[in-house]
Amino acid sequence: MAVQAAETPQNTTSAVDLGPAVALSCRECGERFPLGPVFACESCFGPLEVAYELPSGDVEELRRAIEAGPKNIWRYAPLLPVPADVASHPSTNPGLTQLVKADRLAKELGVTGGLYVKDDSGNPTHSFKDRVVAIAVEAARAFGFTTLSCSSTGNLAGAVGAAAARAGFRSCVFIPHDLEQGKVVMAAVYGGDLVGIEGTYDDVNRFCSELIGDPLGEGWGFVNVNLRPYYGEGSKTLAYEICEQLGWEIPDQIVIPVASGSQLTKIDKGLKELIKLGLVADKPYRIFGAQAEGCSPVSTAYKAGHDVVRPQKPKTIAKSLAIGNPADGPYVLDIARRTGGAVEDVDDEQVVDAIKLLARTEGIFAETAGGVTVGVTRKLIENGQLDPALTTVVLNTGDGLKTLDAVAPTTGPTATIRPDLDAFRAAGLAG
Ligand SMILES: *Cc1c(COP(=O)(O)O)cnc(C)c1O
Repeated sequence: MAVQAAETPQNTTSAVDLGPAVALSCRECGERFPLGPVFACESCFGPLEVAYELPSGDVEELRRAIEAGPKNIWRYAPLLPVPADVASHPSTNPGLTQLVKADRLAKELGVTGGLYVKDDSGNPTHSFKDRVVAIAVEAARAFGFTTLSCSSTGNLAGAVGAAAARAGFRSCVFIPHDLEQGKVVMAAVYGGDLVGIEGTYDDVNRFCSELIGDPLGEGWGFVNVNLRPYYGEGSKTLAYEICEQLGWEIPDQIVIPVASGSQLTKIDKGLKELIKLGLVADKPYRIFGAQAEGCSPVSTAYKAGHDVVRPQKPKTIAKSLAIGNPADGPYVLDIARRTGGAVEDVDDEQVVDAIKLLARTEGIFAETAGGVTVGVTRKLIENGQLDPALTTVVLNTGDGLKTLDAVAPTTGPTATIRPDLDAFRAAGLAG
């Protein structure tokens, strides 16, 4: 493998142990770079991703090692950019969340081929972001950063705050100033610094890019900017877990929320790795992207047949997905088209309806992003793009307790009564 570590000016690789990760490679031109805190190709400015020398031994031995591993994402350490002894590092230890067989939801939606909800609200800070942050922390450690930072739509800020507290980093995170209270409190409670920026997420992100290039941000590991290639790899664990929980099988269809598009892109990468390693049988699968209508740059491009994604100004209750200029948008389009999936969106009312549908059928209280995936699943079935006769996995990536405002206006007590039986009888709820 042509890793040109020796040719770099600051030879960072020699001291860096990120397990099977051997280099960064450009998604566009394929040029390779040594492992380091960089995210864009020097030659073509394309995004960099982690390249591996994956385990080549007996696949059954690897499977057994995974199954006997820790009950969190570190069971997949041999497939991640982390040192082999990662499980002994202080971490929030996310992952291995429930894959819920959603028979009652399936009945409502008319799915006959088997419907599952991958419920990532069960992670330590109640969103899927703990996965990506846990990997970024290992990279930050390897590169000698002492401060963790990020630009966040809400969940990421909380995940970084918690992971920094656990692992002993300083943290300073940036969010749009107008987020839900549950997200703001969770981003602040872990004791790091939290900065509200007067603007949208896209403004926050632009600000962070400037900060990285300035002495003010020196020594800072921005998990989703200069550590983005490592961060992204955390989403592969969703693919690994779903397949392992299905008995080492790839589901026919997966519905994934799209903010920057990183998660969807890396789930596809994870599935391809499992096939390549022989841990699952090769088979076709369809990947669907889900957005909120009020921030739907990718689904708009998908429906228009475009390859480029035109930025939008977000206006939706699905704030965790409110990225108007998604970095991985074009890759999402490519994956949806290549796998025979689609990218669809639902409006805010449909998001709220879907949150309630999931809650009442499966006892899962999703945040707005989960309302988006369930709502889009329903819409895709109605318009014939998702086949109800095939095995389908829908992601719930966050916890409804963080977005109470979305459902509070239309949810509450059935009745409020005096504490006596006559009053209860009058309420007509007996029987
Ligand atoms: C961040 C986030 C996503 C997906 O983000 P990508 O940028 O597309 O990887 C999905 N759901 C929730 C709840 C999130 O916080």
